[in-house]
Amino acid sequence: MQIGKTLISERRIRRRVRELGAQITSDYQNRDTVLMGVLNGSVCFMADLMREISLPVEVIFIRLSSYQGTQPGEIKVGSDFGIDLSGKHVLIVEDIVDTGSTMKFIIERVTDLGASTVEICSLLDKPSRRIHPTEIRYAGFQIPDEFVVGYGLDYDGLHRNLRHVAVLEE
Ligand code: 5GP
Repeated sequence: MQIGKTLISERRIRRRVRELGAQITSDYQNRDTVLMGVLNGSVCFMADLMREISLPVEVIFIRLSSYQGTQPGEIKVGSDFGIDLSGKHVLIVEDIVDTGSTMKFIIERVTDLGASTVEICSLLDKPSRRIHPTEIRYAGFQIPDEFVVGYGLDYDGLHRNLRHVAVLEE
């Protein structure tokens, strides 16, 4: 496996993240807001996005594992969901929404924890593989059905540190 063609350049990512941050800033005025990053994939996106939001927001991270190599596996909670989210407006920050299973799982738990609202902000959206209908309030880019790496997304733990999003090739 190797890094193939660039799907989204560093420059396009930067511009889009700025737009999303401005949109979120305008939508979340006067709200008790929690940005909930899904580790490890959201790490680059969260680091950049949170600095484009000009509001006092809480930033927390949760950990799940849903992929083994390129194959979907089981979703596991790897960190504490025992936080009180009552009255909070939770914005889940994710690297990519693919089948929608991860988002379905997280939204159910966040809702159980009493959040007032739960919305999704995902850098990438791969709608062609959706199993669970998922409303992505803030979507960075729609991409075709290809396995991508970079800007937080990995293949077997590697390539998260690329500045752009690239297709993985045989
Ligand atoms: P879903 O639960 O929506 O099927 O999958 C979401 C998770 O699958 C993402 O957070 C990500 O970790 C992983 N995933 C889905 N598509 C890709 C991809 O093209 N590249 C990488 N690196 N991970 C992906």
